[in-house]
Amino acid sequence: MKCVHLDFHTSPYIENIGSEFNKAEFTQTLKDAKVDLITVFAKCHHGYSYYPTKLGTMHPHLKFNLLKEQIEAIHDAGAIAPIYITMGWSEKDASEHPEWHHIDFWSKKRIAFGFNGGKLDEPEDTPLSDCSWITLCPVGPYQKYLEDITREVCEQFDVSDGVFYDICFMRDACVCDSCVAGMKKMGLDPDNYEDAKKYYRIKRIELMKSLTGIVHEYAPNATVFYNGGADMNRPEYAPYQTHFELEDLPTAWGGYDFMPLRAKYFEKFGKIFWGMTGKFHHAWGEFGGFKNRDALKYECADMISLGASMSVGDQLHPCGRLDKSTYSVIGYAFDYASKIERFSENTKAYTDIALWSSHTDADVGCSKMLQIMHLEFDVVDSGEDISKYQCIVLPDRVKFTDDDKKRILEFVNNGGKIIASGESIFDELGIKMNGPSGFDKDFICCEIDEITTPFLSYCSAYSVECDGEVLAKVHEPYFNRTYGKFCGHKNTPFKLESASYPALVKKGNVLYFAHPIFQAYNASGSYVLERYIKKAFDCIYDRGIKIENLPSCGRVRFRKSEDKSFFALHLLYAPPINRGNVCLLEDFPTLGGVKISVKVDKTIKSVRSEPDGEEIKFIQNGNEVSFELDALKLHKLVILSW
Ligand SMILES: [Zn+2]
Repeated sequence: MKCVHLDFHTSPYIENIGSEFNKAEFTQTLKDAKVDLITVFAKCHHGYSYYPTKLGTMHPHLKFNLLKEQIEAIHDAGAIAPIYITMGWSEKDASEHPEWHHIDFWSKKRIAFGFNGGKLDEPEDTPLSDCSWITLCPVGPYQKYLEDITREVCEQFDVSDGVFYDICFMRDACVCDSCVAGMKKMGLDPDNYEDAKKYYRIKRIELMKSLTGIVHEYAPNATVFYNGGADMNRPEYAPYQTHFELEDLPTAWGGYDFMPLRAKYFEKFGKIFWGMTGKFHHAWGEFGGFKNRDALKYECADMISLGASMSVGDQLHPCGRLDKSTYSVIGYAFDYASKIERFSENTKAYTDIALWSSHTDADVGCSKMLQIMHLEFDVVDSGEDISKYQCIVLPDRVKFTDDDKKRILEFVNNGGKIIASGESIFDELGIKMNGPSGFDKDFICCEIDEITTPFLSYCSAYSVECDGEVLAKVHEPYFNRTYGKFCGHKNTPFKLESASYPALVKKGNVLYFAHPIFQAYNASGSYVLERYIKKAFDCIYDRGIKIENLPSCGRVRFRKSEDKSFFALHLLYAPPINRGNVCLLEDFPTLGGVKISVKVDKTIKSVRSEPDGEEIKFIQNGNEVSFELDALKLHKLVILSW
């Protein structure tokens, strides 16, 4: 499905709202751009509504029911129109109801997002930074108001296409008067962070159930999404979402490697999920900012390669006319997507390696490494069945329950391979943890081609005991860098003799990095650490996908159809570049001679690229299928049929 998230946060100081809205033109623009779904606004962050409302305030310069007209135009285009209602940010409500402000647990101050230190009383002509809003807490009277607004929207409009609530989870605790009173009533201590988090969780789940309940009274099958609630570190909210929209602006929010990890995490809930990027050069609300159309095509292909639907963020001009250039860019990307998206429907990642989520940034580092190694992988969590995998990676900070330990031991005893690091280890795996070494940064000695001397780990090892095969050694620094003792500009040099504990050790089916290596790699991006990790993986894991002549920025995804007879292999290549304050894709060089070998559980009858349908010569030896691509530019979809 090809979606647009059409923001419409519109200042009361702008007149003639919707004056250029033309239903037929709106419809045609969406049709031409092949849009299947577009979100439209009931209520925006300025606090104004775009339909005649009894409970709120219609935008002061809107003269007609714009939302109704937009929905009709969207339906005329054969698309669907979920309705957007703001939750956490509503400027008008925030100024009229200071008692609704979200109060931060630690500072006891309202959360004035983006304002200069939370200062709201600057002179009126002070320039305002981007994305400046006061956050509201939807507990107490504001919850009732949100419920009433939802009911009003459901009364006036057919909400079968869905409802989207925005800004739902800005913090994990609130101590506004209403929350404090509620906590006391429940016997919780508002000064205790864990109690405040517990209350927040209970009330947010209550709110989600209540609002979804109202929408479903009117349209039982409507999608209802609470934005901000598709967070790997807040899995408790996942059951209350009808689907997941993985908002991620790679250009402004830290690059292209986050979405795949989240997609793999949320895919396992078995609900529809889509990636959400933007048409902007930078981020939301950027009028006149454009993304390279090939970059957007890459992002859409990337989402398809992950089994996701795709959503592109835009912001409608106050005049109500969809921007011609924007829909030319979106249409270009969606045209390509429309030709290949069917190969993503009802498919699942086909892999024998999984990342066990630690719910920390170690997952990001680990996922980056797996992607750089051109591997397809799943993400698993505590309590899940891991018996189908060849190898499980336990990055840096996994916390195990007794049941998890039992299942991991059973997995290893049945021939499964474990790659563990940092704290993600327990004695029964044959590695005894004595605790942190106490150094700030140490060194690793392991021969990696031309690197034969100790290299910086950008972190420090845990001291462990193991009678397995030592594959790399630790070299401690002479001392930690402090005010009292330091050496030169940066870290202290290494001692010439190695430490008594190992850096990398292999014991049976377990490979263990004594460093929190994935966090260190994520933070440092060190090329040597990258090669060290790769070399270590190859000591224990027999890769299911082997690729030659694809650079580190190349991405590989391999999916198997659940109801048809094919595997879909996606290859993507575009090196991200940092320019100004963005990470962008501008160059799409053509690669030749990319050699691929994948292990499959079927006898393959044909290999072809799509959408052009060109046949590719291949060889199958047992379960291994090999072929070569003459040219890879931006994205190549290869279908292996059985
Ligand atoms: Zn509160």
